[in-house]
Amino acid sequence: AGVLYVVATPIGNLEDISARALRILKEVSLIAAEDTRHSSRLLQHFGISTPLAACHDHNERDEGRFLERLLAGGDVALISDAGTPLISDPGFHLVRQVRAAGIRVVPIPGACALIAALSAAGLPSDRFAFEGFLPAKVAGRRARLEALREESRTLLFYEAPHRLLDSLRDMADVFGEARPAVLGRELTKTFETLQGLPLGELVRWVKADSNQQRGECVLVVAGWQAPASEDALDAGALRILDLLLAELP
Ligand code: SAM
Repeated sequence: AGVLYVVATPIGNLEDISARALRILKEVSLIAAEDTRHSSRLLQHFGISTPLAACHDHNERDEGRFLERLLAGGDVALISDAGTPLISDPGFHLVRQVRAAGIRVVPIPGACALIAALSAAGLPSDRFAFEGFLPAKVAGRRARLEALREESRTLLFYEAPHRLLDSLRDMADVFGEARPAVLGRELTKTFETLQGLPLGELVRWVKADSNQQRGECVLVVAGWQAPASEDALDAGALRILDLLLAELP
């Protein structure tokens, strides 16, 4: 059987595609793409003429076609519109099916917006939780955020530009205005922004500049921190209390 390569493509800057990714995209017999029109522009840019076929997530006819090709011995590459396939992008069902058939799946790593944002945000990166897109409706979004209120890992969210402000407002409400956060916008592109502010200030900053409500963005939010223990807090407070008590009759 052939090999299914899961190939990361750029999230904006075309220089971010790896030499290995370019070689694999040239060598495979077929490229499975989220959107063939979008991907044909990328391939054209790099002078790659491998045939493209659409791979809609959870479409058994599409998936069957790639499985057949692999079983016949042909190598296939899976790509999405941007970044790493399967990361808030199609491909999960195909990869699962191909693995279940005993066929080798090989990752060709590269750009991924959440990892790019995390690597430059300056928030704890030793443990993090990727939450993907929040629910579009207010009630669902609030419920998801409430469930994350006391999550101590750094939180990462993808967000659509037209929902950024609403999501930030809800985060400031639920997590508190003081919670540190970083907005990563248009990463790797001309107008790349990485703005770090407490959530309350970030809401005001985005609101004041409509440019910040355009383009693609990742939100990195510091995890919940238990309030400092009473003993630690009290060292100073106790001294003041002693002073006040001394003044009492
Ligand atoms: N598979 C992609 C990856 O590896 O990051 C993610 C695909 S998902 C459909 C698209 C979302 O990723 C956008 O709405 C945005 O939240 C984030 N994203 C993609 N490119 C980005 C960029 N250049 N800057 C900031 N966020 C980006």
